Amino acid sequence: MSADVIRFAGVCKRYPMGETIVNALVDASFTIREGDFVSILGPSGSGKSTLMHLLGFLDSPTSGEILFEDRPIAEISPDQRARIRAEKIGFVFQAFNLLPRMDVFANTRLPLTYHPRPPADAAARIWNALELVDMKNRAHHRPGQLSGGQRQRVAIARALVNEPRILLADEPTGNLDSRTAATILDLFTELNRQGRTIVLVTHDPKIAAYSRRQIHVMDGRIIRDDA
Ligand code: ADP
Ligand code: MG
Repeated sequence: MSADVIRFAGVCKRYPMGETIVNALVDASFTIREGDFVSILGPSGSGKSTLMHLLGFLDSPTSGEILFEDRPIAEISPDQRARIRAEKIGFVFQAFNLLPRMDVFANTRLPLTYHPRPPADAAARIWNALELVDMKNRAHHRPGQLSGGQRQRVAIARALVNEPRILLADEPTGNLDSRTAATILDLFTELNRQGRTIVLVTHDPKIAAYSRRQIHVMDGRIIRDDA
């Protein structure tokens, strides 16, 4: 059995909305293990982004427990949590979120600049990440000179440059045409085949079909998990 990366135990997230309360996530329990390729599938408003924010500890649960590498994150200081997030979690977003004035190489380097001391092998790591996504030959282009699919490849390289424990992708193909989307999903499949742990959020069953396990959410509840 592979090591646990993230475990949710009875996790709830409630948002106050004036006089009422929105139950964005209700009693979610599941485990993401090393080497998993999991999609979180559900319609708009079902709680996917809420779940993703909790997975990246960008937000805290209202109740229940989240463990990262077997440690309850509620027991980790905010500073330490930010550091774990920076070093061990790679994020990929629908809108790519590249910095337009920096070239591909500098964008990919960004997560390394958050280290107290840049790693000695920084340049090698950047080239390696760019090679993984087949973007080495565009290292000195700026995002504006790239297609959408190429931009998302760079964003994936940036997410990988720290060699994170887990990659979290929220609707990563939402801004791409279906053919380009398929190439990005093939890339995730290949990265997972190489051993990377991936969680992919999507509303589209065709995209979820690329993953090896689907967690279906509806109205804040997990209604199916084929773990
Ligand atoms: P999805 O990503 O699947 O579209 P979300 O996680 O964004 O779903 O939202 C789940 C539910 O929680 C929705 O009903 C949404 O309106 C509500 N919600 C999300 N964020 C907030 C917030 N900050 N305050 C109040 N309600 C929120
Ligand atoms: Mg969402």
